Amino acid sequence: MNGFYRFPEIRHRNKVGSRKQLAKVLEECSEAYDAHNDWSIETALYCSGGWALENVVEARDAYGMELMDVIHAAETVLRMEFSETEVEMLRDAVERKNREMGYYGAAAGEGGAGCTAPA
Ligand SMILES: [Mg+2]
Repeated sequence: MNGFYRFPEIRHRNKVGSRKQLAKVLEECSEAYDAHNDWSIETALYCSGGWALENVVEARDAYGMELMDVIHAAETVLRMEFSETEVEMLRDAVERKNREMGYYGAAAGEGGAGCTAPA
């Protein structure tokens, strides 16, 4: 494992086509989206006094795990399509592009009024 990847390489990755693995990324994104909805619902119920905090925590953890599934699935496609050197260059290029677009810097105006689920 090089310095870029967060997860170990999956077994049999060469038996799965990269396009099929890319579809897996989409599937995991959909699961993350659904998990975020579940978390939002649990948070709203908790804030209205009608639900237990543990449900919010559980839903938040599930959402986080789905996001990790997205990363893992995307890492697998990167391993299929690019060398480790290319991946490092691509990562740097994306960071540079996003920096030029002003995506990084001090966060301003985040948060809001009302009940939010505890982290
Ligand atoms: Mg998943």
